[in-house]
Amino acid sequence: MERFADMIEAWYEQHGRDLPWRNTDNPYRIWISEVILQQTRVAQGYDYFLRFVERFPTVQALAGASEDEVMRMWQGLGYYSRARHLHAAARAIVRRGGTFPETYEGVRALPGIGDYTAAAICAFAYGLPRAVVDGNVYRVLARWAGIGEPTDTAKGKRLFADLAGELLDKERPAAYNQAIMDFGALQCTPRLPDCPSCPLAGTCVAYAEGRVAELPVRAHKTKVTDRYFNYIYVRAGASILIRRRTGNDIWKGLYEFPLIESPGEWGEEAFYASGALRELLAGGESPLFRCLWRGVRHVLSHQVIHATFYEAVLPDDADSFPGYVRVSPDEVDRYALPRLLHQFLERFA
Ligand code: SF4
Repeated sequence: MERFADMIEAWYEQHGRDLPWRNTDNPYRIWISEVILQQTRVAQGYDYFLRFVERFPTVQALAGASEDEVMRMWQGLGYYSRARHLHAAARAIVRRGGTFPETYEGVRALPGIGDYTAAAICAFAYGLPRAVVDGNVYRVLARWAGIGEPTDTAKGKRLFADLAGELLDKERPAAYNQAIMDFGALQCTPRLPDCPSCPLAGTCVAYAEGRVAELPVRAHKTKVTDRYFNYIYVRAGASILIRRRTGNDIWKGLYEFPLIESPGEWGEEAFYASGALRELLAGGESPLFRCLWRGVRHVLSHQVIHATFYEAVLPDDADSFPGYVRVSPDEVDRYALPRLLHQFLERFA
């Protein structure tokens, strides 16, 4: 019987995608592309990748940038902790002499690099025989081998990692890994995989047993939390007010308007009456408020943000909202903001 790897690689020669990070063995570029692609569609990731490596063409350039600058290049991609980890790892590499690690263990030890990214860098940059296991690979293997073991348990992860290692084309790990990832993205898709035209159809257990739609299995459902953000777009003379988000929460390191988070959806009365608003004003004079935008739903991977935006107008010299930076609306582009705030500014600024 034809080898699994040969069938996948033959499919890739005909159907694989020509992507800008595919024709390189530069570990830095591969690393950046893999981290960007973990959280975004290829079409969108393509532009981010090109912009990112143009601004930070080397690990030294990335290490030498400020965190604000890195976040600004990342804004809109989400999962901002990944950008902070990229930055921290670049600085760690430069501290150790500036050469990208060349072993799996060395790559895996960098901040924010897990099994998947380490395997991808080692296979694509150095030709090391490491099997990459991402969501696409889990799906292909679960269906082809008919594995009902969940992919997100320790036991399942081990089982899939072992099978991926066995099936890997150890002579051509880069070609094989690219092939199986594209195969999952384009042929064995989550919904409506093209089984009748699939080169693996003759050996695919899920296809033979009519279990394609059931596989792969996950043990844990992602828990989604609803949060309620009341933003205040403060205009003070010719400036607006923003502040850097700190704390261990979404959008850490990004800038935002004064914010009151409420336990549920607040109407205007509850907003004006809230003790949180008095606290935010810190005894300063209360500006004129009006609600500009209500019922905005912003969906993240684990949270849904229900946002309301108020506008507050202050005299230029008012000292309400202490602790915020005053910037002109033209300067705000220099700060990394969550996509939600960009949407607001596009509409109302
Ligand atoms: S036959 Fe269908 S389920 Fe099986 S590997 Fe091919 S596309 Fe995936």
